[in-house]
Amino acid sequence: MNNQAINVHAINGHATSAAEIPNHSKSSFALQAVGVHKTYGRGEFAVQVLQGASLNVNPGERVAVVGASGSGKSTLLHVLGALDQPDRGTVEIAGQRLDQLSETARGEARNHLVGFVYQFHHLLPEFSALENVAMPLRIRRVPEAEASRQAMSLLERVGLKARATHRPGELSGGERQRVALARALVTRPSCVLADEPTGNLDRGTARNVFELMSGLAKEQGIAFVIVTHDMEIAQSTDRILRLQDGILQAT
Ligand code: ADP
Ligand code: MG
Repeated sequence: MNNQAINVHAINGHATSAAEIPNHSKSSFALQAVGVHKTYGRGEFAVQVLQGASLNVNPGERVAVVGASGSGKSTLLHVLGALDQPDRGTVEIAGQRLDQLSETARGEARNHLVGFVYQFHHLLPEFSALENVAMPLRIRRVPEAEASRQAMSLLERVGLKARATHRPGELSGGERQRVALARALVTRPSCVLADEPTGNLDRGTARNVFELMSGLAKEQGIAFVIVTHDMEIAQSTDRILRLQDGILQAT
């Protein structure tokens, strides 16, 4: 699989030096999915959601996924981020197959390689913005002072240094999403997976959060896959794919 990926990459002429790829990638893709199938339920209740979805994302590339409600966009992101397993097909993040790892190792790999942003921020309500952003680093046992330093630096980048001690309940919707974005980027993952991250925001705030995400990811060479219904946002990415009938198609 890796050899094949590298060959395809060379043919396409997107050679990228290893130094540009975070977290020591074996393949040259930040993310690669091949022939992913996923069915929920069995027999007459079976819902075939993914039926051979494939995707290559280059380091630093921004890809939008659009599709009707219920077409399987969230399922796809869960499988891409190894939160769920495909029935068939493979997913590699920075050249690594997370499905073959033990539960513990998979959690660690996910912590290092992937960042998630959801429509509803999923911040921990009893912790401050700073503590929320530092959490992925604390989970990987970065000492508190260092984790706080890095988290503060990211909070500053999303314009929320002055809100560091505030809890999520004391922040606006846009501010919460900026904290969630800082949390997704603080580990410098290979890829950020964002599931309608601006779906709950007004137009201006949505645009603002997207621009921030796009700028920071580009600056750090982090790829992202964003599921969105907002065509203006989708058109601001490098590539739009449509999820339809269980597969991803170029638009
Ligand atoms: P989207 O994000 O595009 O709206 P989803 O990925 O959430 O779509 O869902 C795709 C389809 O799979 C829907 O028909 C949904 O009802 C079904 N589905 C999603 N998750 C589950 C689950 N855990 N069990 C059974 N069916 C599910
Ligand atoms: Mg969804």
